[in-house]
Amino acid sequence: MSRGPAPSARTSEVVVVGGGAAGLSLAHRLTETGAATVTVVEPPDGPLRPPERTWCYWDHGTGDFDEAVTASWSRLRIHGADGGEFTVDPAPLLYRMLRSAPFERLVHSRLARSPGGHVLRATAEAVRNVSGGAEVLCTEPDGRTLTLRARHVFDSRPLPALPPARTQLLQHFRGWFVRTAAGRFDPAVADLMDFRVPQPRHGLAFGYVLPLAPDRALVEYTEFSRTALTTAAYESALGHYSRDILDLGAFTVEAAEQGVIPMTDARFPRRLGAAVFRIGTAGGATRPATGYTFAAVQRQSKAIAAALRDGRGTVPPPHGRRALAMDAVLLRALDTGRIDGPAFFTDLFRRTPAERLLRFLDGATSPWEEWGIGLRTPVGPMLRTAVELPFLPRRSRTAPRIGESTR
Ligand SMILES: Cc1cc2nc3c(=O)[nH]c(=O)nc-3n(C[C@H](O)[C@H](O)[C@H](O)COP(=O)(O)OP(=O)(O)OC[C@H]3O[C@@H](n4cnc5c(N)ncnc54)[C@H](O)[C@@H]3O)c2cc1C
Repeated sequence: MSRGPAPSARTSEVVVVGGGAAGLSLAHRLTETGAATVTVVEPPDGPLRPPERTWCYWDHGTGDFDEAVTASWSRLRIHGADGGEFTVDPAPLLYRMLRSAPFERLVHSRLARSPGGHVLRATAEAVRNVSGGAEVLCTEPDGRTLTLRARHVFDSRPLPALPPARTQLLQHFRGWFVRTAAGRFDPAVADLMDFRVPQPRHGLAFGYVLPLAPDRALVEYTEFSRTALTTAAYESALGHYSRDILDLGAFTVEAAEQGVIPMTDARFPRRLGAAVFRIGTAGGATRPATGYTFAAVQRQSKAIAAALRDGRGTVPPPHGRRALAMDAVLLRALDTGRIDGPAFFTDLFRRTPAERLLRFLDGATSPWEEWGIGLRTPVGPMLRTAVELPFLPRRSRTAPRIGESTR
């Protein structure tokens, strides 16, 4: 991998705009399979580059980015609002944690070893379709401009605003990497949803604990609701959760992470012309009902590589229509308060095998299995919501920059 302006940076089969989760996953997949030569355009350190983040996803325990995985869990725990807890085993799937910095280092080093991979430190200013492909106009760190030409451009830059939606919630959270004075965590079990936290008037809230060692964990406070909180409000909720509910005793906070993920039934346009496609959160890869994106990005990257290898100029959608329709019903049912969020998720995990639930989130369940999952939800309110949805208009709303994350 060479950096800065290089003749090879000016033309490649594919330009990927943005080297985050989606951009680097796609670049890795395309170069590894030999599907295309790739230039990734990623801005220099500064306001456009998001801070380090933690991505969790599930797989069979072996995947492309194993060397960068920080931790894995084979057991997941849910704490109901009534304080009752149960543990589920998603075997053969594992729940895994990846930090964005090691992921970036790993993919950059693989691109550097690949003859067809190149990372360009520059800011993309515009992307346009031209005859035979597309062009990306960039500004380099020294202020010079550079035009990249490619047969296909995949753009993962965050959208300035979300597309119109019937329901738009946010998954917003803050987490602390804590170190406790005494061993307080069981590194074998991750707490996926802990509903013992006080519930907001609208939406729902839960704690999330990813233990890394008996005395170290990522402890988060998360809400699914319409507006994000102030950092002071998250700090207060995290303090209450850590001290009064988890009873951590003496601890120090070594780092913090904060973010907002869209939970929306908006339609994200994927194709912006003959040769330009949006990918990642900007291309609708975030699963509306959960905020999980990383696993969908991996599936879509594989599908794009296969499409380019076969000479197809299309990008398959990151989520199927059935999944999006079911998520739209759930989002509206939560937003209207027709269903009790903590009870809904607790019952879903209690009554559905965890492996099937994760497969459902991957869009890999059969209609028959989905029917079974649907029957384990509050059927009356969900049906009423499903019936009214087609008559509701999609509206534009103001929202914070999606994917925003601060420290
Ligand atoms: C704090 C946080 C935690 C999350 N945790 C999870 C999780 O556990 N599991 C999960 O599945 N999902 C998670 N998500 C959701 C989702 O996976 C992430 O937001 C993910 O980073 C989305 O990938 P992306 O490639 O679409 O966007 P990003 O990773 O944000 O990548 C966009 C890239 O575009 C670049 N860029 C911006 N402007 C320009 C420009 N002008 N020119 C060139 N490049 C530009 C940025 O520098 C960035 O690298 C989380 C989100 C946040 C914010």
